[in-house]
Amino acid sequence: MEAQWKGKRVLVLGAARSGIAAATYLVGLGAIVTMNTGSEPSTEERTKVEQLGITSVFGSHPLDLLDDTDVIVKNPGIPYHIPLLQAAMDRGIPIYTEVELAYMETDAAFVAITGSNGKTTTTTLVHELLKGGDRPVHVAGNIGFPAIEVATRAKPDDLIVIELSSFQLMGVETFHPKAAALLNLSEAHLDYHGDFDSYADAKANLFRNMTSSDRIVVKGADEEVMKRVPDALHASTFGYDAGDASVRDGWITLHGDNIIRVSELALGGAHNVENVLAALLLVEPFNIPREHVERVLRTFGGVAHRTENVGRVLGRRVYNDSKATNNVATEAALAGFDAPIVWLCGGLERGADLSSLVPAMSRVKAVVAYGETAERFKTLGESQGVPAFAVETLEEAVPLAFEQSAEEDVILLSPACASWDQYKTFEERGAHFVDLVCSIEEASR
Ligand code: ADP
Repeated sequence: MEAQWKGKRVLVLGAARSGIAAATYLVGLGAIVTMNTGSEPSTEERTKVEQLGITSVFGSHPLDLLDDTDVIVKNPGIPYHIPLLQAAMDRGIPIYTEVELAYMETDAAFVAITGSNGKTTTTTLVHELLKGGDRPVHVAGNIGFPAIEVATRAKPDDLIVIELSSFQLMGVETFHPKAAALLNLSEAHLDYHGDFDSYADAKANLFRNMTSSDRIVVKGADEEVMKRVPDALHASTFGYDAGDASVRDGWITLHGDNIIRVSELALGGAHNVENVLAALLLVEPFNIPREHVERVLRTFGGVAHRTENVGRVLGRRVYNDSKATNNVATEAALAGFDAPIVWLCGGLERGADLSSLVPAMSRVKAVVAYGETAERFKTLGESQGVPAFAVETLEEAVPLAFEQSAEEDVILLSPACASWDQYKTFEERGAHFVDLVCSIEEASR
């Protein structure tokens, strides 16, 4: 790698964690790095850039930066349509994202996961499953360390499990995972991609360099996914009703073999069954002992804020699904329970049509909505003939949800909205919910 980067003039776009990691890596290899951000970075980011001793241009993307640039490494969140990147493309300057850089750095094999929903859960589960094999395994991406940091640490025989967004996949040129899953496709990030097809095509870039000797995992019943599997490739399919991994007579099955009963899975919800099926197909080529697989499936209860089981409080089963920021994620969570649900929802108003939630609402016994969209969710609940309430905040919503529920009911926070009207992140919202639930438990003691 050193030979490739030594003396190269590299423009790193974006100073967030992955940008700093990329700049650190490139400086280490002798590249001449300039850091550039469109907005003012945080004090912490500014300090880190200063410590690296590199040139920095903060607050705008002047085109003359390109005069001294051989290669651009960009943060996935920066859209390709900004004038600087358009001009770079016109001049034929290569543009990499961090994943591409990581792939070039290491000989470790990648197991990659993308999709509109379920990425983090499946990535974490796959990581847990692969720990039972004989190859050391690392996790990179949203939940782990920046890919470039992991790639520098990994040995050639190691495995790297990586969660990839559509933004990261847009920049893929040579990235070639040994196993990869496209879990599902629904509308997301259209503000960035413009339309559904360009978003979905970016996701399908995952398969770009794969061959039939690799493991390709897709949801058989998802037409948009299936349309994007290249004809020359053999794909393994998963699905609740049919596929190489599917559910039969209450069992999770892999090529017809019973693995474990669905009722024994620690993960709750039908959508998580799909994530489990996909994970089994992804790890199959890596010969993981059967006992380890069963143990993980019995004990892996999910990742925080993703239909996370908060526990039983006053006899209610409480779940934190704060990560559900769109209809599809919430539909999956609502459809995944077999008990009456008191549903806490609402948040940032983005004008989304809520009607697609209706079919998933058959077990909802009350709607407690808060935030900017509260009134619209109240109307939705009323249209289905269930008690519905609109309040301002979660502080008011949580006690109301307890009031509206009985023992054995599910209380589910699955907002179907982003958190930014009241919180900085979905994690902060989920943690606040869990705190409020804990204080109700404490008050009852
Ligand atoms: P991502 O990383 O793709 O955002 P997560 O694993 O963080 O996905 O899950 C986010 C939310 O999406 C979960 O809380 C759940 O409501 C929903 N979800 C998870 N898996 C699936 C799936 N396979 N299909 C549909 N929705 C899902």
